[in-house]
Amino acid sequence: MSRLTRRGLLGTTAVLGVGLVAAPHVLRAQTRPKVVVIGGGAGGATVAKYVARDSKGAIEVALVEPKETYTTCFYSNLYLAGWRSLESITHRYVNLVEKYGVIHYRDMAVDVDTGKKVVRLASGRELPYDKLVVAPGIDFRFDTIEGYDEAASMDMPHAYQAGEQTALLRTQLEAMEDGGTVVIAPPPNPYRCPPGPYERTSLIANYLKKTKPKSKILVCDSKDKFSKQALFQDAWQRYYDGMIEWIPGELGGRVVKVDTKAMTVTLEGGDVIKASVANIIPAQKAGWIAHRAGLANDSGWCPIDPDSMASTVAQDVYVLGDASIASKMPKSGFAANSQAKVVAMDIRHQLLGDKRFPARYRNTCWSSVADNDAVKVGASYKAGETQIEVVDKFISQVDEPPEVRAQTRAEADAWYDSITQDMFA
Ligand SMILES: Cc1cc2nc3c(=O)[nH]c(=O)nc-3n(C[C@H](O)[C@H](O)[C@H](O)COP(=O)(O)OP(=O)(O)OC[C@H]3O[C@@H](n4cnc5c(N)ncnc54)[C@H](O)[C@@H]3O)c2cc1C
Repeated sequence: MSRLTRRGLLGTTAVLGVGLVAAPHVLRAQTRPKVVVIGGGAGGATVAKYVARDSKGAIEVALVEPKETYTTCFYSNLYLAGWRSLESITHRYVNLVEKYGVIHYRDMAVDVDTGKKVVRLASGRELPYDKLVVAPGIDFRFDTIEGYDEAASMDMPHAYQAGEQTALLRTQLEAMEDGGTVVIAPPPNPYRCPPGPYERTSLIANYLKKTKPKSKILVCDSKDKFSKQALFQDAWQRYYDGMIEWIPGELGGRVVKVDTKAMTVTLEGGDVIKASVANIIPAQKAGWIAHRAGLANDSGWCPIDPDSMASTVAQDVYVLGDASIASKMPKSGFAANSQAKVVAMDIRHQLLGDKRFPARYRNTCWSSVADNDAVKVGASYKAGETQIEVVDKFISQVDEPPEVRAQTRAEADAWYDSITQDMFA
């Protein structure tokens, strides 16, 4: 089939039975090149949309994602503060299917044969591919804290994969008595959203100050410094003085053991803390399917070519988002979305001969610290010889006037709306 003919194929949509939604033309157009995307999060949803939309149907795009909806981790801290509803940070795949012709397999990828170029799903279905995009986000290293495993996370939620876990943490905060202790245990580097645990600390404090002002937050850290530290600590002192205590790793802050029955947390320094609510965020690694596919190295993350996000381990495979080793780029939704556009461009270049430009990436991480106050850090990036390199960067300042902070808060809201539209609309 010629490329021109293939490009005219988009039609109306149909639901084709449980677990599979597709546009009807997809079944007829067997000869189109096939792209399979594993994971419909910030990275995977963007790449699926951009390849399908910009190839105008010339490439068949299959998205493998078990969930019907995607709740963003970004802005989940605002939900914990009571500022946003869970619905307002939950998005559907319907536009990807109906507007762009993406085939959504509501299924789990359980194996990848990178030699035969086939993805196997939990249902037993096999999906052959010309190009595979692996964007499964993170999994946890449950062997790093004694007593903390998936079952324990139902009592002491990590809330680092959004949805049920985030709702659980919010319910526990609501049920907590005034005067209780919230333990927050940020993970060691590298991990998803470097400022995430500290924005969470600020916004849980914001909620507690309004509703349970005698309560305390103990941040039991495995690290000695953290992202936007001066900005967070300045805000904690100005807005929540006396409510938050940060215990760095060098002072024995790392959590080494938990007891979910007794609701205690043991620190490396020997202290045993009785928690009313414990938000334990363990060390992380690339989503397990990336390991299963042999794409991760000893670090637990997946090495990539900085100019395309192509795996350096397997041919015709890309890894993007949190699962990848994007060197100077943090693991963020903004970064995953930016990387996805580079991947989509490279795929269209390789499969259709479309024009390709040198890779450019961007990221900004906004963090809300109080009702009308947010800070940000960001950078633009290019592909270096062996890794992604910073071109220029910026960060909020401690002594900024309130109007600037209020404007940064408004900017964050505008960013959330536009990036989720870019992914899902
Ligand atoms: C508290 C918190 C606050 C944050 N705030 C921000 C912020 O303000 N700004 C920002 O840019 N980022 C923020 N982030 C980070 C951001 O959420 C992640 O970096 C981003 O979601 C990574 O995108 P991803 O596509 O790599 O993974 P994800 O978004 O996690 O998507 C992975 C998807 O893959 C699916 N999946 C996994 N395994 C399989 C499989 N085997 N088969 C099929 N599907 C599979 C999962 O169901 C999931 O939907 C925050 C994170 C947290 C935890």
